[in-house]
Amino acid sequence: MPASLEIPRRSEVISRHKERGGRVAAVFPIHYPRALFRAFNVLPVEVWGPPKIEARQGEKHLQSYTCSIVRNGLSFVISGGLNVADFIVVPHACDSLQGFGSILIDFIKPEKPVIPIYIPRGTRESDIEFFTEELKSVFTRLAEAGAGSPSDPELIQAIEREEEADKLLQEIFQKRTHLPFSDIEFYRLVRAREYLPGEEFIELARDAVDRAGDNPQSGIPIILSGIVPEPMEILNAIVRRGGVVVADDFACLGRRLYPAGKSEEPRRRMAESIILGPPDSTRGSPIGDRVRHLRKLVEESGARGVVFYNIKFCEPELFHLPILRKGLKDAGIPSVVVEADIGEELSRQVETSLETFMEVIK
Ligand code: SF4
Repeated sequence: MPASLEIPRRSEVISRHKERGGRVAAVFPIHYPRALFRAFNVLPVEVWGPPKIEARQGEKHLQSYTCSIVRNGLSFVISGGLNVADFIVVPHACDSLQGFGSILIDFIKPEKPVIPIYIPRGTRESDIEFFTEELKSVFTRLAEAGAGSPSDPELIQAIEREEEADKLLQEIFQKRTHLPFSDIEFYRLVRAREYLPGEEFIELARDAVDRAGDNPQSGIPIILSGIVPEPMEILNAIVRRGGVVVADDFACLGRRLYPAGKSEEPRRRMAESIILGPPDSTRGSPIGDRVRHLRKLVEESGARGVVFYNIKFCEPELFHLPILRKGLKDAGIPSVVVEADIGEELSRQVETSLETFMEVIK
């Protein structure tokens, strides 16, 4: 068994980057241009919650049916958890995040720039044009905040580095069942993309890919879909029932396996990459596209079923689920929906539903 991968901790990466004179952006879910921030020597560090924090401070500003990502995120900001960040970036993935951005700007008023990013809900030429303009305005915000003003060649250099990291991420996913890692170790590795600088992720990913063996892992093959695999205990619960995750449709991972953009104009190239990524409820992709995408994942991976690991009150996902599941059922693909809150333990109900589902598909 090869030695485990050494994945640096988030706090360590942030300190190192700051010691070298860089700045940090705390980035909320889901889609944003990593390369644009890196060209300004700003390290994007993603904030998915975080899960294990006291969420009460944020609750008083939110409706009771707001998801735990926004609830915990707001509490984290209020309690000073993001003091280390120089920017807070809020992509408008959903109504809850849009509301979160407004609360920050209008009420909390943190002492650092809050940069919203508006993402179009389509893949037409006009959507790419709109998003290109949006990225120009993010560029201006960063430049006005004194982060410098990178030239186009510097932007292209940053883009190429992120494209290489994305390509390796794809390769890790393709080889995932041949890698000598447990599901938890695998997800720690791929989620390091949420905070590691692209060049460090590239090294880590190359090391991982080199460890791929000849024989695939055994177990009942399933696909996981949802926003983020939190609580990560779901992965152990799957293993305990003889399952193995063979493909991924999480918004934080599989739906961000971006293709490289083609344009020579850097902002447009970043826009193309995100807009033409895998279908995602939060980018307003048609449900039919998601059905086709999931059927293809099942076909390619040999999965026997799909587990939708949904965050409570996540509207974009809840709107898609009935038609998505019907589309899978029509193709003979079983699925189950289990719900979790990122700050809670995995419930008995989730364990039971998972157990029944694994029994049915084994
Ligand atoms: S979990 Fe769903 S509702 Fe919550 S921030 Fe993410 S996309 Fe929005």
